[in-house]
Amino acid sequence: MSINFATHANPDGSRFAADLIIVNGNIHTMDRSHPTAEASAINGNRIIAVGSNDEIEKLAGANTKVIDAKGQLVLPGFNDAHVHFMSGGFQLSSVDLRDANTPQEFAERIRDFVAKLPKGRWITGGDWDHERWPDAKLPTKELIDPYTPDTPVFVNRLDGHMALANRLALKLAGVTRETKDPPGGVVVRDSKTGEPTGILKDAAQSFVWKVIPAASFEEKVAAARAATNHAASLGVTSVQDMSAGADVGVYQTLLDRGELKTRVYAVWPLPGWDRLARTGVRAHFGSAMLRTGGLKGFADGSLGSTTALFFEPYLDEPNTSGIPSDEMFPEGAMLERVRGADRAGLQVIIHAIGDRANDNMLSIYERVEKENGDRDRRFRIEHAQHLRPQDITRFARDKVIASMQPYHAIDDGRWAEKRIGPERAKTTYAFRSLLDSGAMLAFGTDWTVAPLNPMLSIYAAVTRRTLDGKHPNGWIPEQRISVEEAIRAYIVGSAFAEFQENEKGTITPGKLADIVILARDIFKIDPKEIEKVKVVTTIMDGRVIYEVKN
Ligand SMILES: [Zn+2]
Repeated sequence: MSINFATHANPDGSRFAADLIIVNGNIHTMDRSHPTAEASAINGNRIIAVGSNDEIEKLAGANTKVIDAKGQLVLPGFNDAHVHFMSGGFQLSSVDLRDANTPQEFAERIRDFVAKLPKGRWITGGDWDHERWPDAKLPTKELIDPYTPDTPVFVNRLDGHMALANRLALKLAGVTRETKDPPGGVVVRDSKTGEPTGILKDAAQSFVWKVIPAASFEEKVAAARAATNHAASLGVTSVQDMSAGADVGVYQTLLDRGELKTRVYAVWPLPGWDRLARTGVRAHFGSAMLRTGGLKGFADGSLGSTTALFFEPYLDEPNTSGIPSDEMFPEGAMLERVRGADRAGLQVIIHAIGDRANDNMLSIYERVEKENGDRDRRFRIEHAQHLRPQDITRFARDKVIASMQPYHAIDDGRWAEKRIGPERAKTTYAFRSLLDSGAMLAFGTDWTVAPLNPMLSIYAAVTRRTLDGKHPNGWIPEQRISVEEAIRAYIVGSAFAEFQENEKGTITPGKLADIVILARDIFKIDPKEIEKVKVVTTIMDGRVIYEVKN
């Protein structure tokens, strides 16, 4: 890329010098007009030049910081299109049940954690996964009650669509055998006694959430700080927080204190859309660091909780084909919200996992687009996990962004077929088919449902090797995509999904200086190795926010 030095001269005629230059890089810019380079220069928070070492070194002055990339891979910063950033921050300081491999281990970790807590303090988070356990049976409160007589516990499955309450938590929430299932939720009961087992699915979880004391503002700031530091260490420079809700002020505080290391697109809950609309704010309003204007809704539950909504019943629970989210009730409520929010110029973002939920949402989007007329609205479906073959092309045709999380494929892929069978599995996480149909993919993790590390997601999209090692050549390998395509979805696609493709997503002069250096070249190494690759340096907004010292 040629550099016009005249435009980089200081007003007083003295020679211009960049604030920061990266040299000796194996730079993949992700900019198709100029895909590779050796070096790049940054001034303030912007990339000002991309080129050869010779060209860029000329921009260095006495005060220029020089990063020698030593031939390592340089990419634009990762942009995670779907996170739950605050819960991620809280999780970093909560009990970790994700890799508890047996119910006993699950119970013991809670027992050990209780010992460290003041009496009466709630235990939440956890992110357990019963699909790891030998018989994959759901846990019950009896498993943990002996250890938690005075500690209310409400620990969620990693997908957030169900949680286990202990006896005390159920008592505080007033959940008994008389409690009825709420719309969009299930109180799981013992088949013999009818007593609640402690498992509450989807909307039924709110019985307990209502009685958990809210975290204080400073506790939230601490959680957000933990989250942003974690993101920096993984090369994630932007996140789209699907459950920011009322926590925008937490990020604002961190930003004011100079501690926010991640750009945040803070998304509100769709059911409160009219409050946001009344402020006059429209999609992606704010600064390059913190923006709002997106609304997240739910069409159904999850596959792991057998609440994802399908056309056909589950194979392992033939009496159900899932449940629509409570936001789908009463009939027409979702359509009305999407129509109103879209008319107000806000961005609508809906979670849909089962094939029927996806069909429902695509139809609602189609109808609203027809009614409200043509505009650059960028409707999104989050997960787009199970699609009927005939629905795949609707994403490209309707310009609906498929915001997907590849790690779920290698996670759910361990057991998805026992739920939905091989036929429906063929168009599960259909990355290849969606790309081939011309759809825009935006990648992310759904942290805390999956780890925030982008390397795991790229590994997952490229290999589709399930976590249990049972699909060494990939689960539904025909849906694999290339490293280039996966990175593009993770950087360019996710920037597009938040209306930021002109600001970030490529290493191009004029764009924000969000850059990551990786220890190995993930384009060249055996794809099986990608999951182990570490970040060496993360630059966000022109600042080095993470660096491995050696
Ligand atoms: Zn999510």
